[in-house]
Formats: sequence, structure tokens, C-alpha cells
Amino acid sequence: MTKKIAIYPGSFDPITNGHIDLIRRASKLFDEVIIGITQNSKKSAFLSIEDRINIASQTLSNISNIKVMSFNTLLVDFAKTQNAQVILRGLRAVSDFEYEFQLSGMNKHLDANIETLFMTPAEQYANISSSLVREIHTLGGNISAFVPSSVVQLLKR
Ligand code: ADP
Repeated sequence: MTKKIAIYPGSFDPITNGHIDLIRRASKLFDEVIIGITQNSKKSAFLSIEDRINIASQTLSNISNIKVMSFNTLLVDFAKTQNAQVILRGLRAVSDFEYEFQLSGMNKHLDANIETLFMTPAEQYANISSSLVREIHTLGGNISAFVPSSVVQLLKR
């Protein structure tokens, strides 16, 4: 039987408790979930790609069917090389919808065989975003309720 593999792509800069909630849920639905970490061309990175990979790998090490990788190719090409049938994206609020809808439409145009699947996080994570976490941290606020402790520790150093 074909393994059901999903790619969860994002910049994860940094990974948040909302991302982790989604990954845990997805890990129960798929044989394998690949966290695909990308350098987002629109934003300059807050954490290095190495730090983002290390933190995600450490934080998710207790889930056996998770793989953390980085990629810098077209997402559909990355999905194909990993034999993934599904691209997983998170929806927090209506405001995410327009961008995500456009992205999924473009990806479907590029490769009609790869499905985009949207998941929502538990309610308490719906307001967490990496960009707000970066802003709060930069202004000296406490981000420990929003991210895994390895992110807090890394940023203290
Ligand atoms: P990108 O820069 O590609 O938007 P992100 O790392 O910000 O990547 O997010 C990756 C995916 O996770 C996106 O689909 C985003 O909507 C989703 N996401 C971000 N934060 C949360 C959250 N708190 N709960 C659920 N999904 C989220």
C-alpha cells in the first residue's frame, strides 16, 4: 500500500505552539509528515535555517513519523521528490484564507496531482503567529506561552 505522506511547508521562524499542535494532529492522519522549512524570500530570517531545523527536530523528537527537512525548490517539486501526495497548511482565521486559497490554486495549477489540505489548530493557538512572536521578543516581551522552551532558550543566548 502507498504510504500517505504530507508535507507541512513554512518558514517556521520560529516554530510556535500553533504549528506544533497542527503537526501532532496531522501525525495521526498520515503515515509520515515532513516539516519542510523554507527561507521565506519575502522576509529576512530571524533564526538561521540551521537553528530552525534543530529546534523543530528537538521539539518533535517524540513523534516517530515526523521528518524535518529544508528545501529551496518549488514546493510541488519538493513534494514530488518526497513522494508526498498532500500539502498541509494551517488556517487560523478568515484573514489567512485569501493568501492560502491563492497559494493552493497556484500549486494545483503547477501539479494537479498534489492536494492541499487545510487544518485548524486548537482554539488556544489560533492567535499565535511567528511574526507576532518575533515582534514581542524584539520589544522585550515574554514569548514563553507561545513557543516551545527550546526557542526561548536559544533566544536567551
Ligand atoms: P509561511 O511563511 O509559509 O506562511 P509559517 O511558518 O508562518 O509559514 O506558517 C506555516 C503554515 O502554518 C501556514 O499555513 C500558516 O497559516 C500555518 N500557521 C501558522 N501559525 C499557526 C497557528 N498558530 N495555528 C495553525 N496554523 C498556523
